[in-house]
This record gives sequence, C-alpha cells and structure tokens, in this order.
Amino acid sequence: MTKGETYYHLYSATMDPCSMVNDEYEKARLTWLCVGCMTPKNIAVPIDAQIEEKLPADPPLNFINGCGLGLVRASFLAALGPAVISRDLLIGRLLGPDGALVDDWVTFRGRYRVLVRGSKNISYRRCTDCGRHVYFAMGKRYLYPQPPDDAEVFESDLLGLVVRGDVFSRLALATWPKIQLDKLGVPTAPKDSLGPLL
Ligand SMILES: [Zn+2]
Repeated sequence: MTKGETYYHLYSATMDPCSMVNDEYEKARLTWLCVGCMTPKNIAVPIDAQIEEKLPADPPLNFINGCGLGLVRASFLAALGPAVISRDLLIGRLLGPDGALVDDWVTFRGRYRVLVRGSKNISYRRCTDCGRHVYFAMGKRYLYPQPPDDAEVFESDLLGLVVRGDVFSRLALATWPKIQLDKLGVPTAPKDSLGPLL
C-alpha cells in the first residue's frame, strides 16, 4: 500500500429506511445495541435482524432506523469476492415480517469501522456507554488517519462501506443507480481540529 491511498465511500441516500420489528428491537436493546448512541456495541459479531418491510427500498444499500445497522444486497457484495467478505465484514441474516429470509439482502458490519470526516458544521461527542466517537461533519469528506492496511473494505460510521481504490474497480456500480459515492483521500492532518479520534 502506498501513502495517499484513495478510498471510496459507498452509501445509501434513501429516505425510506427499514424498521426493526418491536420485539426484536426490545431484545436488541438488552443485548447488542448500545442505548447511549443507538449503534451496535463494539463486539465483533454478525447481527441478525428482523424488519417490518417485505423488501428494503433503494438497493443495494439501506439501513435499519435507530440502531445503526447497515443492509446490503448480497449479490452486490459478491463482486468483492468471498475471501475479502469473510476477512473484512461480518454478515448477518435479514428476516422479513413473516420471519423468512429476505431474498438477497443481509446485514453487514465491518471488522473495522472508520469515521468519514469533514471540515465544517462539526458535531462530536464520545458515547459515555460504549466509548464510540459520535461524529458528523459537512464539507469535503476524507478519512483520517489512514485505515488499517490489513483490510480492504470497512464499515463507515454513516452506515455505508468504505472500499480501497484497487478493490473499488471490481464493483459493478453502473447497475446500481441508487448508490451514492464519494471519493475519499487521506490528508496529512484532519480538517476538523479533532485529532486522530482513535
Ligand atoms: Zn454507544
């Protein structure tokens, strides 16, 4: 890997996210969901989820409202190759309202979660329950510091996927018009005055 590596942030701009069924949401609050920041706790396990919708809108990426869990079409991920998926991602099952698997959709988490940072309108706090950086900023987006070099695909804190440049070219993006895409550089210093946020 060379310094100044480029990454791509793939995310959903959907106005139509999914909702977890009530019983499962209550169970999640008692187990994997941090109630301090409404995001999965920092335990590296795949998460199964059951949603109220028969099918998530706006493929290939969507998310479940209020719990920080991203959803993706398995056939979209497949282009990354099974070795990358099993090394870098934690894939869980997605069930519909009837309890059956939702065709071609899965939940995902990254072995690493990276902050997509910005330069203005910065809001930042540390979750007092799980220690997570709860961050949002506008302006030009970038990564800082450089993500770990033993992975090529990461979960972003914006419920998307961050993909290293050389892996990005494998993805057939033209077939997925709903996907949002930002190119991310790694500047020599963060542009939000917040330090490395490790
Ligand atoms: Zn938390």
